[in-house]
Amino acid sequence: MSTPTSTQIRLARRPVGEPADSDFTTETVGLPELGDGDVLLRTIYLSLDPYMRGRMSDAKSYAAPVEIGAVMEGATVCEVVESRAESRPVGTFVLAYTGWQTHAVVPGRHTRRLDPATAPISTSVGVLGMPGFTAYAGLLQIGRPQEGETVVVAAAAGPVGSAVGQIARAKGARAVGIAGGPEKVRLLREEFGFDEALDHRSPDFAAELKAATPDGVDVYFENVAGTVGEAVMRRMNTYGRIPVCGLVADYNATEARDGAEPGPVLLRRILTKSLTVRGFIQDEFLADHSADFQRDMSGWVADGTVKYREDVVDGLENALEAFRGLLTGRNVGKLLVQVSEDPTR
Ligand code: NDP
Repeated sequence: MSTPTSTQIRLARRPVGEPADSDFTTETVGLPELGDGDVLLRTIYLSLDPYMRGRMSDAKSYAAPVEIGAVMEGATVCEVVESRAESRPVGTFVLAYTGWQTHAVVPGRHTRRLDPATAPISTSVGVLGMPGFTAYAGLLQIGRPQEGETVVVAAAAGPVGSAVGQIARAKGARAVGIAGGPEKVRLLREEFGFDEALDHRSPDFAAELKAATPDGVDVYFENVAGTVGEAVMRRMNTYGRIPVCGLVADYNATEARDGAEPGPVLLRRILTKSLTVRGFIQDEFLADHSADFQRDMSGWVADGTVKYREDVVDGLENALEAFRGLLTGRNVGKLLVQVSEDPTR
């Protein structure tokens, strides 16, 4: 067998603002021989997620940055093409964390087996994977929506936001989704079943939000921050809950936005409305809630309670352009890069 190679996208320097082509290099390298227990993986799908912007930066965060010169990190759905791991024979599909590259050699025990007969393998990085779990754990453990309450979420057409809205409705709450542009707003109403859907680019956004939340907001699942977050904060009810999941509006920011509310204004709102504001990183809930998630979410997807959308971009060479689009809202649904053929489809 010829020595396998991998085409890799590596971080060349830390981006300032929006990541540029020149911040990355593409290289094809030889891979090491397989050791005992190792597998050679062919990447089928690379998951693109907003957290990757943080990994490109060396600002202090909850996870270490990608080193300069290293392969960009990321979750992947792969096929085993060579194996020295008994539990991962050739032809097995796995969830791995091999990053922005076409092939990788990793210990088989660092991968999770996927069963294409149970669910499409791509869902392991979407609705049945990390983004779905983020919605499930953040909403139910922190947001705790009660029947009849109003739950608001932005980035609502994405994998986290769309699941938040649909789980909220499954729990008897009223779901208000916020997204960018009329096409996404239509999707929120017609496909994901949000009770109300709003376009955050509308010049009348604040008035439309007020009209869509006549009883105020009990749970604001914070995905974006920025002007949208500030507008929703003004609608919070006493004893409201705010799971702080992400701040995607600010991920490329290099300086404070004009007119941004200063900390004391925000703290005053938290005080006067007795709000509970709690940040979280989804993996803190894994040990206690992943089994419930797998059971509930698989059931909801199977019976149509939770629907999902995927946005599949062809070719690893298009990953960076697709990632730029993720931070500006070009994606509709879970963003995946198709790195090679999916034989299960
Ligand atoms: P999405 O696929 O929803 O992509 C991000 C979306 O954010 C864009 O599509 C865009 O949608 C929206 N957006 C970008 N800029 C703005 C803005 N200025 N104002 C309003 N909306 C904006 O991403 P995910 O569903 O994967 O992730 C959603 C959030 O959850 C992110 O903040 C992410 O970092 C966070 N997250 C947090 C985790 C945790 O453990 N805490 C784990 C996983 C995700 P639109 O066109 O609607 O504006």
